[in-house]
Amino acid sequence: MTASPIWHPFTQHGLREPIPLVTHAQGAALYTQDGRRIIDAISSWWVTTHGHAHPRIAAAIADQAQQLDQIIFAGWTHEPAETLAAGLTAMMPAELTRVFFSDSGSTSVEVALKMALGYWLHRGEPRHRIVVLEHSYHGDTIGAMSVGARGVFNRAYAPLLFDVATLPFPAAPHEQATLDALEAECRAGAAAFIVEPLLLGAGGMLIYSPATLAEMARICRRHGTLFIADEVMTGWGRTGTLLACEQAGVVPDLLCLSKGLTGGAVPLAVTMASEPVYAAHYGPERERMFFHSSSYTANPIACAAANANLAIWRDEPVLARIADLAHRHAKRLAALAGATNPRQLGTITAFEIGSTEGYLSTRAPRLLAHFRDRDILLRPLGNTLYVMPPYCIDDTDLDTIYAAIADVLVR
Ligand SMILES: *Cc1c(COP(=O)(O)O)cnc(C)c1O
Repeated sequence: MTASPIWHPFTQHGLREPIPLVTHAQGAALYTQDGRRIIDAISSWWVTTHGHAHPRIAAAIADQAQQLDQIIFAGWTHEPAETLAAGLTAMMPAELTRVFFSDSGSTSVEVALKMALGYWLHRGEPRHRIVVLEHSYHGDTIGAMSVGARGVFNRAYAPLLFDVATLPFPAAPHEQATLDALEAECRAGAAAFIVEPLLLGAGGMLIYSPATLAEMARICRRHGTLFIADEVMTGWGRTGTLLACEQAGVVPDLLCLSKGLTGGAVPLAVTMASEPVYAAHYGPERERMFFHSSSYTANPIACAAANANLAIWRDEPVLARIADLAHRHAKRLAALAGATNPRQLGTITAFEIGSTEGYLSTRAPRLLAHFRDRDILLRPLGNTLYVMPPYCIDDTDLDTIYAAIADVLVR
């Protein structure tokens, strides 16, 4: 047993792997107490977009903390939340007219699912079946796990998870099977389809085509099934565009955003809803209201951080920076020998190494150690390795990452 009372997430303390203590971070680098500079090659688990300790975001947090730290959000409002909601509705597709705040990606998914069921109930035609994609990940709360892949991660809780309809992953060239299965579920009266647009993250960085995403949205629309886009990871430029849905010309009925919403500095999430979803909950009847809240809903400090992020998107050439990173990634990925199924979407590259043992493969901890020894934060998903750095990463750090990967591949 270790001395620290902390029980870490996704950590088997019995393996006694070292847990570095980080004292500060800047840009794409983390600095540890024992004096090491670590390259953050996974954006601190996919959240840090522009870079750590961005001065505009840090200043916004400091200012807001002295102005208004926290306020009940049921029946009250504040300027940072109003500014953020206006900013988001201006920036995101025009059809998404309403902004509901929460505090994590998982919660934004729970909120979207609850809104979908509320929509159908309040229209007087209750529907409850949710359709999902094989290998998807939507978070670790019970509802979010229910709509995600089943496996070793949630075996203990399986009796609590609700039933969903699972479509096969639309791997080329078998997309039609997925579309046909979706059509059948929609025709049978599915309430909603929830999907990670273009790229399934935790499921192994699996990429599918914009044409397939567009067709999935068309099928849902045709049958009235609500289309929920979980852009918790793919949002904020990760895939090369502000939203992944943009690449398919798709506008969802419900949109989940978190991770990069604050630039990755503090926790915040939103579920954006179309007017019909909002309207279904609107009226003089109290029982129609949306029954959901958490203590820190729309926390002003978090909203201020998000407003700074939106300002960065408005004022700085973020998309050009992303395009440049994508280009620099592509060159290095092309030069990697021995990577299986190399693929890239925007700022994310991924490939498999060796056998297909899955998440608990014994290779994963060895890989983790390999990169740790080289002062790189990379965390394989089973035998899938991926690189997803903050947009500010420079060529030197990128070279160091790819050189360490090349080392693994020649072994
Ligand atoms: C990370 C993630 C979530 C969960 O977000 P948390 O903030 O960790 O709860 C949900 N959906 C997707 C696609 C994610 O990548």
